[in-house]
Amino acid sequence: MSNYDVVIVGAGIFGLSTAVQLARSKYKVVVVDKFQIPSQLSASCDYNKIVRLEYNDEVYAALAVEAMGYWHGESDKFLPRGMLHDCYSHCGRLSAIQDKNTSRYAFDNDSLQLLQTKFNKCKTVELHKELTCGGKFPQFSHSQRYDEIRYNPDCGIGLARDSLVTMKNYAESLGVVFHENDGAVSVSAGTVQCESGRKFLGHKIIVACGANTVSLLPMYGQIRATGLYVGHIQLTDKEYQKLKDIPVVFNSSLGYLFPPDKHTRILKICTSAMSAYDDMSNKSRAVYRALQPDAAPSVPIEAVVRIRTVLGKYLPDLVFDTKRKSKLRDIIDCKICWISDTSNSDFIIDMIPDLKNVYVCCGDSGHAYKFLPNIGSYVQQKIEGRLAPILAHKWRYRESDWNGTEIEWRVEPEKKALQEIEWYQESYGTPRL
Ligand SMILES: Cc1cc2nc3c(=O)[nH]c(=O)nc-3n(C[C@H](O)[C@H](O)[C@H](O)COP(=O)(O)OP(=O)(O)OC[C@H]3O[C@@H](n4cnc5c(N)ncnc54)[C@H](O)[C@@H]3O)c2cc1C
Repeated sequence: MSNYDVVIVGAGIFGLSTAVQLARSKYKVVVVDKFQIPSQLSASCDYNKIVRLEYNDEVYAALAVEAMGYWHGESDKFLPRGMLHDCYSHCGRLSAIQDKNTSRYAFDNDSLQLLQTKFNKCKTVELHKELTCGGKFPQFSHSQRYDEIRYNPDCGIGLARDSLVTMKNYAESLGVVFHENDGAVSVSAGTVQCESGRKFLGHKIIVACGANTVSLLPMYGQIRATGLYVGHIQLTDKEYQKLKDIPVVFNSSLGYLFPPDKHTRILKICTSAMSAYDDMSNKSRAVYRALQPDAAPSVPIEAVVRIRTVLGKYLPDLVFDTKRKSKLRDIIDCKICWISDTSNSDFIIDMIPDLKNVYVCCGDSGHAYKFLPNIGSYVQQKIEGRLAPILAHKWRYRESDWNGTEIEWRVEPEKKALQEIEWYQESYGTPRL
């Protein structure tokens, strides 16, 4: 048994960011994770994630503007200046403008207005009728033309895995101990028990297990595990050279694609407006099938159809095989990636009632990656009892509040139980969930 000031369970965005801030304040910290970091189960273990500023809520807009200072390498209050700058590319974002009657349209407009008036950001947003933006991005010269497109240069992507490893290395340099490949099986006041039987004692315990949080703590339906679909295509060197400087292309009702990864030449595509849940477990628990490789299908067939639709619309040259033009190109490394949703997409950062000094940080709702540099500082303020009341209230542990509220910025009509899915069989590589 080992004694710590704080035991953190889960080394995703919340866990790593918090470990760093606590260690900077000289806490003795251990981080326990079920897998090696970056964990294959972490929603943030990926090639890249969007780092955007657009929020119509002043709290998150301020948080995003603050975080951007670290991605840009300018700020130094929470991290050494420039530490995450190499894990970031300021590529900009092209967004398809949605139907003007949708809540998504209102969200985008309100967000830009807030950022421009209160934060002096996103002042150079441009509107276009076609994806090349008047020749700025010739890579899209074959794209379809019937969307209205917004180009926001004030946006980028974080290199997800690299940024997690950078944070872990920095935490280690500050004295944080990492205990990997040994998941927590139970948490009580003062103690975390692991699969191996190892116990960690801590004055405070923070559980930050993303979609798997409900396996350790009583959350009473406050969070739901939502599975999002991701697929990739392998580019040739020539294609990579052509596409390496594209911005993110985002369509909230279809899907989005990213500039390709420079090490692997892989281009990632995510679907929007479709997701999975696990019908076996009250719709709240993620099924980590990576633990059962034989039962590891990839994504639903319709997600692959959707991925090809996104490609066909924006990068049609990538739909067919480079050698056999009649053959569709393989969509590879398809997976379901789990997030922990709250009804209104507010995080939960609070002490668990009746579990003294046990805190939960979850409810990322698919938008927490960008806060890797700074969210830990707010978790620290919470456990030290000095979090601003407005934030403490916003991120409070609340009795189940799923009352039909929809996450306004996420278009999500198609939800499917895992048990009903017809899985896509990849012809390349090993499928996994
Ligand atoms: C497809 C997809 C796209 C996304 N795109 C964006 C984006 O563009 N921009 C953005 O800002 N956000 C994005 N997100 C959201 C972002 O990835 C998440 O908000 C963020 O990763 C949540 O962090 P977390 O710490 O709550 O959980 P996670 O990152 O999931 O980390 C949880 C950790 O807990 C560990 N764990 C689980 N169970 C146990 C256990 N029993 N014991 C010990 N450890 C355990 C896991 O191994 C993992 O390391 C996206 C998410 C997905 C799925």
